Amino acid sequence: MPNKRKLSEIRKKISSGTANVITVQEFITRISDGEHVKFEDVDVITTATKGLMSGILGLFSFRLSAPKTLRKFTEISINGIPAFPGPCPNEYLGIADLIVYGTAQSQSRKEYCGGSLFRELVEGKPVEVLAKSSEGEKVEKELTLEDMQYAKLMGTRQAIKNYNAMLNCESYQVNTIFSCLPFEPDKSELTFSGCGALNPFQNDPEFDSFGVGSPLLVNGAIGYLIGPGTRNYIEKPNMMTIAPMTKMSPEFMGAFKTSYGLEPICSIAIPIPILSERVFKNIVKSDKDVKLKILSLVGREKVGEITYGDVWQNNFMMKFNPEACRKGYDCNVIGKCPTDAFIIKDELIVAIDRSRCFNCGNCARLCPEAFSLDLKSINFEGSDIPVVLRQSDRAGAILLAEQLKKMILKEEFQLKKPTGTLDFAESIK
Ligand code: SF4
Repeated sequence: MPNKRKLSEIRKKISSGTANVITVQEFITRISDGEHVKFEDVDVITTATKGLMSGILGLFSFRLSAPKTLRKFTEISINGIPAFPGPCPNEYLGIADLIVYGTAQSQSRKEYCGGSLFRELVEGKPVEVLAKSSEGEKVEKELTLEDMQYAKLMGTRQAIKNYNAMLNCESYQVNTIFSCLPFEPDKSELTFSGCGALNPFQNDPEFDSFGVGSPLLVNGAIGYLIGPGTRNYIEKPNMMTIAPMTKMSPEFMGAFKTSYGLEPICSIAIPIPILSERVFKNIVKSDKDVKLKILSLVGREKVGEITYGDVWQNNFMMKFNPEACRKGYDCNVIGKCPTDAFIIKDELIVAIDRSRCFNCGNCARLCPEAFSLDLKSINFEGSDIPVVLRQSDRAGAILLAEQLKKMILKEEFQLKKPTGTLDFAESIK
């Protein structure tokens, strides 16, 4: 008789304080320590990912003028980021509905995108709204997240089932979203994205556990999986989600400076109730079991394949030694942190703002004396190629998976069956 359990049984165990809820990371560690973890040892596994997610957008609704004064708003920006007013015109209500893209760049602030704005709102900072009505009337207002009647973060393509590593096979440098310094030529360095074994889809490849309507965490807030994301095809599934900004935590979000502009950061965590032996068997046991394709940066052809075990080996967090940071040196690191995590005093980096650090490794690449992170190198066509940048933050994803585990155990997050399955589209040719 194959092992099976019902969701209601897991819920009862959670209520009685006897459920075994663990993160994928804990599962992997127990296995690598030699433990034979069995179906009966685990009731729920929490998965997560934190990375650059270009497909996010903010949906807002707030009052800008008294009712009956203006017909509708036709132009709106927040902190210089152009928004899309509507789709509902809200005629003569004085209320604006609007959409802000996470990738939209500010026209008034340097190095500031929708992702930066969403984080500042969640931090409680005031933002400047400039609007123009259909009559040509200008309205200026300072608002905080609390003043907004509706503020949700939606994602059109998220938590993609891992990603790729990139290699510049051309003979010239390329500025791209896949690097934060110009990408060096001639296959001389590698960057990669994807949280490997921790990724939600990687642990539920047969889509047994979650689907349309599943609750999940987006940047720490309880939201919902609302359907398949754009380009959701069987080999690379992804999801569309929505969650309230008011409940989010800033450390899981923000913006990342690439050599081709800013990209928004977002984090997703989702539980997998272990309902059958089949679900249990699909939980990833090692990063070595997760393939990582190497693509040529220009053209995106596959040029090789490694595994996430080649790039993630319990080496998730950057360490900083402030003693090594001395005055008078021509510092080549200040200004090069893609998330602005350096705390600088008197021209010296004195500490790292851990709520901003993405553990990307760019600082360790530029100054290994002060910053240490074992970024690894891979063997490609007989040569050692250094990994120079991580565009996913595994340490941040582990933190979110741990938060979800705690919320499940405290019954602050309810496990629910999905209401529908994710549909798959044909891959766009
Ligand atoms: S690892 Fe270094 S460069 Fe990367 S986000 Fe953290 S402090 Fe910035």
